[in-house]
Amino acid sequence: MKTAKIDVDQLVRSNIRRLTPYSSARSEFKGKADIFLDANENPFETGLNRYPDPLQWAVKERISAIKQVPMEQIALGNGSDEVIDLLIRIFCEPGVDHIITLPPTYGMYQVSADIADVTVKEVPLLPGFQPDVRGILEVANEHSKILFLCSPNNPTANSFDPAVVQELLAGFPGIVAIDEAYIDFAGQDSFLALLNEYSNLVIMQTFSKAWGLAGIRLGMIFASETIIGYFNKVKPPYNVNELTQRAALQALQDEAVYAEKLQTLLKERETLVTLLPEYTFVEHIYPSDANFLLVKVDDPQGLYRYLTAKGIIVRDRSRVLMCEGCLRFTVGTPEENEVLLNALQAY
Ligand SMILES: *Cc1c(COP(=O)(O)O)cnc(C)c1O
Repeated sequence: MKTAKIDVDQLVRSNIRRLTPYSSARSEFKGKADIFLDANENPFETGLNRYPDPLQWAVKERISAIKQVPMEQIALGNGSDEVIDLLIRIFCEPGVDHIITLPPTYGMYQVSADIADVTVKEVPLLPGFQPDVRGILEVANEHSKILFLCSPNNPTANSFDPAVVQELLAGFPGIVAIDEAYIDFAGQDSFLALLNEYSNLVIMQTFSKAWGLAGIRLGMIFASETIIGYFNKVKPPYNVNELTQRAALQALQDEAVYAEKLQTLLKERETLVTLLPEYTFVEHIYPSDANFLLVKVDDPQGLYRYLTAKGIIVRDRSRVLMCEGCLRFTVGTPEENEVLLNALQAY
């Protein structure tokens, strides 16, 4: 089931469509040269005296090979948080347009919209934590510019049903942005395979979770060349710094390290899922496609305080809609998880 292709240009704010982007020295001169006196840089070598590649081609080349997506359909941001912010600023006219989120979900969609003075319409997930397709399509109108789908979802840990996502891609009149921050930990495939089937599809991934590089702040966006073009026009010219590009390249060249850590975390998640139900205060563990577990306990605040006193910090989600009674446990190293389990044993 597919609708007529959405004309993305028509969804973009008119000032962004008209925008003449900043043209940096490094993006204007593309040839080969020995002496660069064009960017007012300091000529003395520090290893970092030159501006970084504004379009990060070396990093994108590796990502392209790993994800099987052409480089022209990839852009990078200063964390996914910058990607979210830029998407809202590209598509949403403050005071006029809105985004749709599906609580309980990641908090940054709301915060970025609030900062941009863009309204958020919330359509809560259904019991079972799947999107309410009918509810979403009922709320949607020509001012619904972005639907944020977080799959696997934070904090509920589940993936969205691919059939449900396809129904939304076909029926939603605006951009469908799928946040796949946790996709590496999921039992189902990325929605990247649908990239060329829907002109309104945007997929976000990050180096912060499975790649173990939250400190470098690097987020990925995959979309049509048209959307990537707008993204590159609006982003700050040097939004991904040189140190970040180097660290990412190094990680991408050593995929085995990534794969090994991923396997360990998946195994540790399994161990926690097996052992946690043995404690009487654990009422439910929600199935997880992510590197964390949403766990319902009988006294979340009491347990939270107890763990904190032992130097173990977990996330209290007990006051979040549909997560009543729940704490969120990130999967740690085998050693950390053992300390956690021992502490729970003694509770
Ligand atoms: C952790 C997380 C991210 C990552 O954001 P970065 O800015 O790339 O660190 C994105 N989306 C969700 C849902 C997350 O939980």
